[in-house]
Amino acid sequence: MSAPGAPTRTPAPTGSLPGTGTRTGAGTLAGLSAGEAAFRHQVRELLADDSVRRLAEEIAAYPPGVEAAHLDVRRRLGERGWLAPNWPEEYGGSGLGAAEAAIVTEEMTRAGIPDDVHVLSIDIVGRFLLEVGTEEQKKRHLPPLAAGEEIATVLFTEPEAGSDLSGLRTTARPDGDGWRLYGRKIYNMKSLYGEVALCAARTTDSPVAMHGITLFLLPLRSPGVHVEPVPAMCNDRFNLVVMDGVRLTGADVVGEVDDGWRLMTELLQLERTGIDFHAKARRLLDLVIERAAAGGRLDDPAYALPIAALDARLNAGHAMAWEQVRRLGAGRPDPVSSAMAKWYVSEQIRPVLETGLEVGGLDGVLTAWDGGAPDGGLLEAGIRLGPSHRLASGTSEVMLYLIATNGLGLL
Ligand SMILES: Cc1cc2nc3c(=O)[nH]c(=O)nc-3n(C[C@H](O)[C@H](O)[C@H](O)COP(=O)(O)OP(=O)(O)OC[C@H]3O[C@@H](n4cnc5c(N)ncnc54)[C@H](O)[C@@H]3O)c2cc1C
Repeated sequence: MSAPGAPTRTPAPTGSLPGTGTRTGAGTLAGLSAGEAAFRHQVRELLADDSVRRLAEEIAAYPPGVEAAHLDVRRRLGERGWLAPNWPEEYGGSGLGAAEAAIVTEEMTRAGIPDDVHVLSIDIVGRFLLEVGTEEQKKRHLPPLAAGEEIATVLFTEPEAGSDLSGLRTTARPDGDGWRLYGRKIYNMKSLYGEVALCAARTTDSPVAMHGITLFLLPLRSPGVHVEPVPAMCNDRFNLVVMDGVRLTGADVVGEVDDGWRLMTELLQLERTGIDFHAKARRLLDLVIERAAAGGRLDDPAYALPIAALDARLNAGHAMAWEQVRRLGAGRPDPVSSAMAKWYVSEQIRPVLETGLEVGGLDGVLTAWDGGAPDGGLLEAGIRLGPSHRLASGTSEVMLYLIATNGLGLL
């Protein structure tokens, strides 16, 4: 289904500015091995299917407040062990590496498949379970996540605790051999659709804010869990999750009791390669380049030079993000360079969108559901989503703080 008047084609990054060579990470920039390049080819081929193109168009034309959740295309990747290719086969993966995981992220974005469920279920919750989950938790949750059959979400942010999670107030009060959970979590995504959420709560009172925090796997359909949508300007909604005496037991603890702060700080940085943010910016820039080429604007230096500069900056961001992927693959992630990559790639979305408006004029702010928008309103959707790049997965200011303190020894 497409919005009335929407074009039938989802733009794919096919064009190339003269002299820039491969732009979308198809091989050269990422320095892929032959096996990795073959894997990219296979994933790209699967996602080139007409049904995937139609699904991407349909999702792009959803009216505000309607969001994508379980998707057949994720299941099709899951059937082959490609949704979480870096997970062991026994948990539904393919036993491949961080590079293949990055390739799947890039190719899904390139095909117009939203990445929120993937980031939450595979990159965050799945990683936490792989690293510190019990065997029972892994066996129960990882296979359906890797198959694209279940969704796991993340409940960290609270009304008064965002960048500084040590301010969280959600409390797990002792109750017999377990706990009762009370609190409010905001700005979380997909909680209406998820089976479980990774939830951070205070288990022990301590004068040190970072102490006494525990991670739980919270079954989202338990009595006492209330999920309310919070409207947002991007297509997907946020949620407020209220937990009112939800019963949890020792089997729901992820890692050790009171060890949540360490796990969050150590494991969240592993999510921060910047690959996802780069892929979204690249998809939009490729669209802008296509439009500029179609309008004859690449012959005009007033358009061509800033576009070439932006293209170069995105290529630099791509290289930085892939450096993090390689570090992850080698088991030596670095919080400072990953903060640099996340900061740099997420800052590129704004100039991409500004350039898009300069190239396309006011057509660029037509929405998919108004009809008649070029490219299914992709640029307009990007304008509404763009600011979130600087906020999600750690804000730009927090990344700069990490670089200044841990990297440069300032402050
Ligand atoms: C698209 C998207 C998806 C999200 N999904 C989830 C999810 O699934 N689950 C979840 O739990 N959360 C989620 N979040 C929430 C996200 O983690 C928070 O928005 C983020 O941590 C920032 O917290 P905040 O919004 O409370 O802003 P605040 O922390 O209040 O920050 C407000 C502003 O102040 C700046 N600031 C804060 N501290 C400092 C400092 N020390 N120095 C300088 N500047 C500072 C920030 O950079 C920011 O610009 C999502 C957010 C977005 C945008």
